[in-house]
Amino acid sequence: MQKTILSGNEAFARAAYEAGVTVASAYPGTPSTEILENITQYERIDASWAPNEKVALEVGIGASIGGARTIVTMKHVGVNVAADPLFTFSYTGVRGGMVLVVADDPEMHSSQDEQDSRHYARFAKVPMFEPADSQEALDFTRLAFEVSEQFDAPIMVRSTTRISHSKSIVELGEPLMELPETGLVRDPSKFVMLPGNARIRHPLVEKRLEEMSEWACTQGFNRIEAGDGKLGIITSGVAYQYAREVFPDADILKLGLVYPLPKQMIRDFAARFDTLYVIEELDPFIEEQVKAMGINVIGKEKVPICGELSPGRLRQAFDLNPPNLPPIKEDLPPRPPNMCPGCPHRGVFHALNRLKAYVTGDIGCYTLGFMPPLSAMDTCICMGASIGNATGLSKVLNEEDRKKVVAVIGDSTFLHTGINGLMDMVYNKSTATVLILDNSTTGMTGRQDNPSTGFTLDGQLADQVDLEALCRALGVKHVETVDPAQMDTTRKVIKEAMERPEVSVVITRRPCVLIKHENVVEDLPPLYVKTDKCVACKACLTIGCPAIEWETGKDGSKGNCKVDRLLCNGCQVCMQLCKFDAFGVCDD
Ligand code: SF4
Ligand code: SF4
Repeated sequence: MQKTILSGNEAFARAAYEAGVTVASAYPGTPSTEILENITQYERIDASWAPNEKVALEVGIGASIGGARTIVTMKHVGVNVAADPLFTFSYTGVRGGMVLVVADDPEMHSSQDEQDSRHYARFAKVPMFEPADSQEALDFTRLAFEVSEQFDAPIMVRSTTRISHSKSIVELGEPLMELPETGLVRDPSKFVMLPGNARIRHPLVEKRLEEMSEWACTQGFNRIEAGDGKLGIITSGVAYQYAREVFPDADILKLGLVYPLPKQMIRDFAARFDTLYVIEELDPFIEEQVKAMGINVIGKEKVPICGELSPGRLRQAFDLNPPNLPPIKEDLPPRPPNMCPGCPHRGVFHALNRLKAYVTGDIGCYTLGFMPPLSAMDTCICMGASIGNATGLSKVLNEEDRKKVVAVIGDSTFLHTGINGLMDMVYNKSTATVLILDNSTTGMTGRQDNPSTGFTLDGQLADQVDLEALCRALGVKHVETVDPAQMDTTRKVIKEAMERPEVSVVITRRPCVLIKHENVVEDLPPLYVKTDKCVACKACLTIGCPAIEWETGKDGSKGNCKVDRLLCNGCQVCMQLCKFDAFGVCDD
């Protein structure tokens, strides 16, 4: 069979293809985003972005009930959104095999918290595989579809950032050519979870887990790697790779199915060792279950519970000397996160800063409005929370302070879960202002489309949600749209909205400069600084654009700013801040 190098996310996509999946749905979120983007290369799979993870899962459930093999992908925080249908789907079981790939983000490289999705598997009583490299990402996911149908259960496959984004050699399999038969099958006792039906399903779910625990003791995805017999380690996922490297002589029980655990296999393994460790990333998920079986193991007493594991961290935890490797260069300059040069959000946050607004923020590129010099974000909780946060805050403030509250949310996030907050705001007579930062894409995860962009995942033209009409339909009387590159107008419109004693929405509309569809973003010439006119007032630096640099003065002169023309997108926002006409437009 052909061998190739794939990232974990590419391997998940390939597995779906090989397993005969015909429907895929997701909401983008790092580190899971590229799974669906890679699935689009397989033409027989109908892949689409959903407005949020709950909808994505509901689409997957519908397709499974119709008999199709289905994959749904999301990042860990997305499972919070999708939890409601997930728990009930665990009871109904499947028709076509259904796999939910969830990518956790230990170390929070790109997330607001550090969740361990293995708890969701246990909580929802959904079996979970955990691959340790790209080959296992493909093999386990492909197998998960069979297991799903064999045990009548949706199956979760857990990835982490290192698995999703690292590449390793993968042997591809033959794709299933005979696709599952689809069509309507009426089976209300299985799929209508009224209490009477659900009560019958629950014992079946418990029995399923017991049977799987026994079955998993004899399957190759849970395996023992023999060592010198002195030290036993139970591990899974990427933690297996670190354990293998740090303890090359240990006996390792590597779990491929982390829920339900293969209890008898664990008992037999544990009986051979005086000292047994559980090495796992994030929570003591395996450790606590093994301890509950009456087995003495050492886990989080040694292995850190916070952050991402690595061989170095593991060595440190076990007081082991580091191997003789060349030192890592640690004097790299710090690179704080920043919005791109020309980002349409920058002018909005400049305005909010000047207006001394109290900003309830949300999840997206614009969360970086928190960073200096813009420093214009005061809260950020989760997707869609900004609007509800603003409502709650306004309820407890005096009239003067209430006017300062502004919720900021992106177009994609508004459609994800912001709509309900705005509905509540109108219904319950809040007075806060909502800014919808419409950059015509889902910027932070890498520019994916959403129902307001006019394109589907595979670039086909689509009907667009009219955000202004939608807000009006929710009952908002004052809806205004501005170009955030027009600094004075933007500030004026936001100020007027803040003064209004009722809900008002300002839509700031300008496309993300990195957008990939043709003719969406204007190609503007870069700027330059006329050094003879620059008086070094530094007003332009308050916008925090990475294309503007400061050149320190030589021979005691004040210095001046200059523009890096390779970075400048020509948005001219900085130009509007300069009172000395020191910016010019390049004409070459
Ligand atoms: S990706 Fe787009 S929206 Fe995000 S910071 Fe860059 S320009 Fe702004
Ligand atoms: S705002 Fe104008 S005068 Fe002030 S530092 Fe920038 S370019 Fe120079």
